[in-house]
Amino acid sequence: MSVIRMSAADIAAALASGELSSVEVTQAHLDRIDAVDGDLNAFLARDDEAALATARAIDERRAAGESLHPLAGVPIAVKDVVTTEGLTTTAGSRILEGWVPPYDATVTKRLRAAGLPILGKTNMDEFAMGSSTEHSAYGPTRNPWDRERIPGGSGGGSAAAVGAYEAPLAIGTDTGGSIRQPAAVTGTVGVKPTYGGVSRYGLIALASSLDQAGPVTRSVLDAALLHDVIGGHDPMDSTSIDRPVPPVVEAARRADVAGLRIGVVRELGGEGYQPGVRARFDEAVELLTKAGAEVVEVSCPSFEYALSTYYLILPSEASSNLARFDAMRYGLRTAPSGVAAPSAEQVMTATREAGFGDEVKRRIIIGTYALSSGYYDAYYGSAQKVRTLIARDFDAAFEQVDVLVSPTSPTTAFKLGDKLDDPMSMYLQDVATIPANLAGIPGLSLPVGVAEEDGLPVGLQVLAPAMADDRLYNVGAALERMLIEQWGGPLLAKAPELEVRA
Ligand code: GLN
Repeated sequence: MSVIRMSAADIAAALASGELSSVEVTQAHLDRIDAVDGDLNAFLARDDEAALATARAIDERRAAGESLHPLAGVPIAVKDVVTTEGLTTTAGSRILEGWVPPYDATVTKRLRAAGLPILGKTNMDEFAMGSSTEHSAYGPTRNPWDRERIPGGSGGGSAAAVGAYEAPLAIGTDTGGSIRQPAAVTGTVGVKPTYGGVSRYGLIALASSLDQAGPVTRSVLDAALLHDVIGGHDPMDSTSIDRPVPPVVEAARRADVAGLRIGVVRELGGEGYQPGVRARFDEAVELLTKAGAEVVEVSCPSFEYALSTYYLILPSEASSNLARFDAMRYGLRTAPSGVAAPSAEQVMTATREAGFGDEVKRRIIIGTYALSSGYYDAYYGSAQKVRTLIARDFDAAFEQVDVLVSPTSPTTAFKLGDKLDDPMSMYLQDVATIPANLAGIPGLSLPVGVAEEDGLPVGLQVLAPAMADDRLYNVGAALERMLIEQWGGPLLAKAPELEVRA
């Protein structure tokens, strides 16, 4: 098998046995990026020299007999919302064009400490607002399955990079679905860990009470291996949970659902979900039943309000977080035209006008409104109360079952441009993923086939209680194994356009 098609786990094994060197593996991925990324636009920045330098250092340390992290030498791509010292970090925004962070996010630090060469930074919707990567200031990323379609968002770059074999592993962030929905529509695996399970230090904040970084990969085991690298307590993040990382790798290897209780969420399915999405979901649930799981239907009545709740809480937090882009400290500074001696406020206004895109402005306006005195209780305050009801629905559900399942996204990848003029229909992409962020619980999406009406990948989402992330990997890996057996290979092998189109 060509190096770029290997899983991270297999690459790691080949590195350990000396069959491959990290330089070879890293170079193969850089070559792949050369060949296909002109078309896909998954990368906003590349770091070829640093990646190869890391690879060389790992090869030397291995040759010297040092004991290394299992993923040492396996290259990775990082979403451009995660700071990387010395490498541009733009969050997909004009306002941060060319900004080179003076420090590493904790996630980045942990990747470096484990010896993973960082290939570059991946494209995303501006400040992680969106479900298609079309809100990037640097042009959209294309879906490797069909270049006319979106790769999901906001982390479309990470999902496309992994799906198109440009990287075996990637980091994403998920505030309302930005790891899971791109995974679903590109046929890859994405995990949003428990809130507080992975440090947010050095992540450019969208909504601080919802944001969480996590793995984007082509297999459930690879996601677990990466989760184990980036997870764990960090004193630099006050919301970081001071407990060991759940036993995710062990669970991915166990892959046994016999006797497990699985709940199908009634409110996350049915009307509004594409027929092919429903069909693949139902078949996957059937497989879980055959493997010995006990499947029941569970109701979470407050989920009906999840989207509205999210679109009050998120813009409120975002409007506050984005106030730091004031033309004084980071990135862009634009002078207002025709003003001889502009005031600081005029410079801020001109810079924010020029530096932020439409979706970002829309949300800042909504957030500022929802937080303003007189409306605070009616909007933000009520949303917080409904958020509690949603968390209680999950608590009640997890008294009956070990995990919950639903389709990850109501549709497969839509065409570029299709939803750009209709923010509401874009927001609806996340109806099934948002409840997990509101409650802080972990979620995993894995591919369960293609929809017959368009031949595009469908994702299934597994949800578990907070800090029970290992359950996601156990169920995900069990289902993945049965599906691969049925298909005679991984789903991505069926992607029609994935051969090199240089
Ligand atoms: N699509 C959702 C939004 O636009 C989720 C974004 C995210 O998870 N970062 O807010």
